[in-house]
Amino acid sequence: MPIDPEILERLNRGILQRTGTYRTDEHFVLRSGRHTSEYVAKALVTTEPTFTEGLGDIIATHFSRFEVDLVLTTGYAAGLLGHCVARAHPSRPRFIFATKEKTADRRTGVTLQPEYRAFFAEGGRVLIVEDILTTGETVKQLIKLVESMGGRIVGVGAIWRRSTRMKFKYPLFTVVTRDFPTYAPAECPMCRKGIPTNPDLGAGGPEDDPED
Ligand SMILES: [Zn+2]
Repeated sequence: MPIDPEILERLNRGILQRTGTYRTDEHFVLRSGRHTSEYVAKALVTTEPTFTEGLGDIIATHFSRFEVDLVLTTGYAAGLLGHCVARAHPSRPRFIFATKEKTADRRTGVTLQPEYRAFFAEGGRVLIVEDILTTGETVKQLIKLVESMGGRIVGVGAIWRRSTRMKFKYPLFTVVTRDFPTYAPAECPMCRKGIPTNPDLGAGGPEDDPED
């Protein structure tokens, strides 16, 4: 009998919590100025190789009924995860990555290594892999890139989707989907209890690229 998706998601969140990736019951100030008690430390997602392999396996298993020729990622941590997804997928797809950069109008742009262009010649079937999805902007750019190359997108797989409203025109699977409750400082329950804010994570620390 398949596990209830809600229970499975709670289990996955628990695993991410054990690795220190998912932090709860703390007090963080986000770049937006709002406060929250939860945080996903993106840099910690891929620090335990066997755990990264396990996450890659979950995503590969979800898309295992589809033929995949290429797993496409961008960014360092997503690349490590994408490698694990490609390894675990029964189609034995190739693993490739695009390079992320800021365009002149300060938006996120992605470009493909010229060596990879030939892989799209026969209309490659592509699975896009990301680590943490905050706005989905990077994935949107990767979708445009694949479409411009004549590739076909099987779906998008990621570890964490920060907004339940996030949607793409292709199937999206995330190991965890969770909207963090956030508070204006005046209404923040952690402020009221006098819990000190975390000086290293959130707006005071290396917060994730908000466009990811
Ligand atoms: Zn607060």
